[in-house]
Amino acid sequence: MLEIRRDPAYLDDPEVASYLNRLGSRLASQSSDARQEFELFALRDPTLNAFAMPGGYIGVHSGLILAAASESELASVLAHEISHVTQRHLARLINKSGQGQITSLLGLAVAILAARSSPDLAIGAMMAGQGAAIQNQLNYSRDFEREADRVGLDLLERSDFDIRDMSAFFERLQKYSRLYENKNSAPGYLRTHPLTTERLADLGNRIQSRPYKQVPDSLEFLLVRAKLRSQEGTPRDAVTEFETRLAERSFAGGEAAVRYGLAQAYLRDNRVAAAEKEVRELRRLKSQSPMIETLDAQVRLKHGDAAGAAALLRGAQPRFPQERAIAYGLVESLLEARLPDEALKFAEDDLLSYPSDPKMHFLQAKTYAMLGKRLQQHRAQAEAYALRGQLPAAVEQLELAQKSGDGNFYEYSQVDSRLREIKKRVADEAKQPKLK
Ligand SMILES: [Zn+2]
Repeated sequence: MLEIRRDPAYLDDPEVASYLNRLGSRLASQSSDARQEFELFALRDPTLNAFAMPGGYIGVHSGLILAAASESELASVLAHEISHVTQRHLARLINKSGQGQITSLLGLAVAILAARSSPDLAIGAMMAGQGAAIQNQLNYSRDFEREADRVGLDLLERSDFDIRDMSAFFERLQKYSRLYENKNSAPGYLRTHPLTTERLADLGNRIQSRPYKQVPDSLEFLLVRAKLRSQEGTPRDAVTEFETRLAERSFAGGEAAVRYGLAQAYLRDNRVAAAEKEVRELRRLKSQSPMIETLDAQVRLKHGDAAGAAALLRGAQPRFPQERAIAYGLVESLLEARLPDEALKFAEDDLLSYPSDPKMHFLQAKTYAMLGKRLQQHRAQAEAYALRGQLPAAVEQLELAQKSGDGNFYEYSQVDSRLREIKKRVADEAKQPKLK
């Protein structure tokens, strides 16, 4: 996961991540193996793909989220991937191949990551790793595909999604893939998940026996899709697209999502007054979502109204206590409004609940910097780096903390012992075999 977070395509957006993880846990909670933990993350990549990695990590390309015509379609792909994990397909493949397990697991993770968008790179990673064994592992067998379809369909149904959308989405993916002459540029999902006529017929048969059920999309799904769409192309392109939808009153995803997307596009295009007007229209629609609160706060910040942004998020935070984007936005607004004492109080409380959140440690460091507390600033910065796996940078920060000159005896000895711990981790990691 540390490797993935360093990938330039990694989408570092707490709102998108929080939505995907909520959707993932809604599906996974219906699984027979409720102990398995999952972490879903998005990658900015236009190709239609999703993949499961060892340990319950599931990557979703932004292209797939944008291509999904309904939330049930997106959920159907996630349910399939979750089922590969709960059915232990990767583990079973690795056992069968009889490889040294840890090495092949790690090699596999690297190969899957590399295979994401560049098939050539994937081959390189495979040669370096376990060769043909990994190639077999990358392509699930037909039996595993059928099992993931069957189990995934059950998860989808028990989670109250429209199961018909699974075959609808897979059929559309297959249609896209016919447009590509070169198999390697076909949607990645089909390369790793061969979609046979037999698989489609199998799905169709299962679905026919189930009662029809129409499931409306959640507001969060519509807002996440609008947010990702507003980041595509140039800012001007994005504005034009949402302005057109609004002018044609083409509200397939609801008016709120169109206005939300337009406001995001205006912000990207630095048209703050226009964005502000859209937010007012959004408020008039009375849609409730933490994503609307953070958008409103962002508009206020860009408008130079940091106190207003802070007041808004201070009010929203107790209503959405688990939304990381609201917590980050609140500390950022408080700093912008020059209220570092209140920012520090909030960050400290928050870190009691989320001690391994690197971003909050980073914000805490900024807060200490504003308060002129140098030892604490470097210490918090070191924690942020350590949690991101950037150990040399963490060491550097702790050495700066040692030289800060503004700590007491107790604080210096804490810095010293943390520095010893991290240096030991650096030494241990140097002994590990390199992956690439
Ligand atoms: Zn599959």
